[in-house]
Order: sequence, then structure tokens, then C-alpha cells
Amino acid sequence: MVKPFMPQLVYIEPRAMEFPLGRQLYEKFDKLGVEIRKTTSHNQVRNIPGDNHQQKYRNAKSTLVIGLRKTLKFDTSKPSAEYAIPLATGCMGHCHYCYLQTTMGSKPYIRTYVNTEEIFAAADQYMEERSPEPTRFEASCTSDIVGIDHLTHTLKKTIEHIGQTKHGLLRFVTKFHHVDHLLDAEHNGRTRFRFSLNDDYVIKFLEPGTSRLDQRIEAAAKVAKAGYPLGFIIAPIYLHDGWREGYETLFKKLAEKLPNEALDNLTFELIQHRFTKPAKRVIQENYPMTKLELDEEKRKYKWGRYGIGKYVYQTEEQEEIKDVFQMYIDRYFPESHIEYFT
Ligand code: SF4
Repeated sequence: MVKPFMPQLVYIEPRAMEFPLGRQLYEKFDKLGVEIRKTTSHNQVRNIPGDNHQQKYRNAKSTLVIGLRKTLKFDTSKPSAEYAIPLATGCMGHCHYCYLQTTMGSKPYIRTYVNTEEIFAAADQYMEERSPEPTRFEASCTSDIVGIDHLTHTLKKTIEHIGQTKHGLLRFVTKFHHVDHLLDAEHNGRTRFRFSLNDDYVIKFLEPGTSRLDQRIEAAAKVAKAGYPLGFIIAPIYLHDGWREGYETLFKKLAEKLPNEALDNLTFELIQHRFTKPAKRVIQENYPMTKLELDEEKRKYKWGRYGIGKYVYQTEEQEEIKDVFQMYIDRYFPESHIEYFT
């Protein structure tokens, strides 16, 4: 059973105390007896304890930095959204393949931003510029935002903020089942709540520290009952002995557990496992015992932007994945929509 995230160590930037959320979080962790250290900037967070790289990495992932989002220029987030809305960075999960290992580099700790009103004002500006076209915001580009939100409720506020707009849409994805506080949010149908799912083998061996499949499915059913548009990202689709049966079991369980409310407007996004050479080095450093297969020889090289290519499955394997998933989705969710396979 994965417990809701609780940091072992908290850093707070002094300006965070000027914001109600900063003060609330300070008081909460103080009462709970969590060690709180003052820092002038998250870049000063250098003394994360640990005797070696792996210990420091693990400890960083249970460290929370409470600070401000200084740049209010949002990154783009094509193709699934126009912009990434910055609410937090980092994640307490330990998925061996996670891309945050390369994008966050030496700063794997979790940061939460307390200047939410400023972030919402920037989002309003972006919506205004595109109006009357809709503007989609993705909230999980740099973190698993749901996994932290039981502490901050920042995502909940964002759901309600976007819920009140005419042209805004929000989406995010999670591997955590701690969704109860989000069920009564006034989303007005403007948030698509997505769960990242995988078969039991992948969750067991490659996704430590995240909620198990049955927990995620149970949470998805609650979210559907709360009227949210629902989606699933099956990622990374990973070929291992028994993968066809593993993924069929996933779809079967989903079909058994999802309520009818979920079925009308259900989406699937399918993403095969891939890795880059720099990612392979980082993964092997962070998770030296990983079972994750990272053999370039077995894969097909796909040229990428900035000269960093990816290793994906061979063309025939990709065709097989597509066929098998299409078959399962037709069988178990004929009304749903596959957004893409990549
Ligand atoms: Fe990365 Fe998502 Fe796993 Fe967190 S839950 S470690 S963000 S893949």
C-alpha cells in the first residue's frame, strides 16, 4: 500500500512566507515535527543528506522545497496542450524509466510553488490571447502533481480556477490514487483526469513508490463518478515475457471496475518504451539493479531533435503492439477513442 507522500525534510524560501499557502505549509510541517530548513533559493539546497549518490538521490526525492515560481512564462506542451502550467516539479515515485531523471538532473527534489494567484493570472493572460480559441493547460509535465496535492491543494485550486473560465481546459496524468480531496472540486467538465496505467509486471518491477494497478483503477472509478472526463495513458508499453496477457488483464480489470459514466468520453494514449543514451547512463546510476531492458542492439534508432536520438522498438514489434492494443480496446472499450500511439 503506497501511503500519501510525506516529506522527510522541508526547505522553505523566505519569500514563501509572504503567501498564505507558504505559511500554511510551514505550520503544517512544523506541527508534524518534520525538519524545516530555511534557504534563500532552491539552488542552495545542496546539503541533502546521504553517503553516496543513490542515498542522496533517494533522500532528495523525499525532500520538499516550498518556494515561488519566478518565471511566469509558460513552456509549450504540444501536442496534447498549448501550455504547461507550472505548479510543482519533481516526484516522489521511483519509476526506473522516468524522464525526470534526465530533465531534472542534479535537482531531483520536489518543489511546490506558493504564488498560485500569480500563476493563475499568467494563465488568464494566455487564455485571453487565444480567445475565443480554447487554451489547454497540462499540469503534469514536470511532476506527478496528484501525488503532492493532498499536501498543497494547488491542483484542486487550479481545477476550480479553470472550471470557471470560458476557454480554459486542464489536463494532467498521475500514477497515484490519493484523489479523494479532488472529487468535490468544481471542475465543470473542463479538466481531463488521466491515469497512467501499466500491467502488473511493469508496476511491480519498474514503478516502485507509486500506487498499484488496482488502486489506480479504483481511483479512476471514483473520478469518473465525480463527473470528470477520464483518460488513460498506457506508458511505457514494455515488451516482457507475458506482456500480451499482462495488458489484457489490465483492460479486463478496467472494464470490470469502471462505471458507465466513464465510458462515453474515454480516451487512451499509447506510448511505447523508449530511451536515449544519456537517459540510459542516468538510469543505470540511479537504479543500478534495474530489470529495465536498455539494449540498443535490440532497438530501432529514431533520429531526434538536438541530435539526441531515441531507441524505440523494432518496426515489426511496434506493429504488433498497435494491433494487440487496438484489439483489446475494441474488445473492452469499443466506444473509446485512441488519441495516438507513439
Ligand atoms: Fe516519474 Fe511519473 Fe514515476 Fe513520478 S510517477 S517517477 S513523474 S514516471
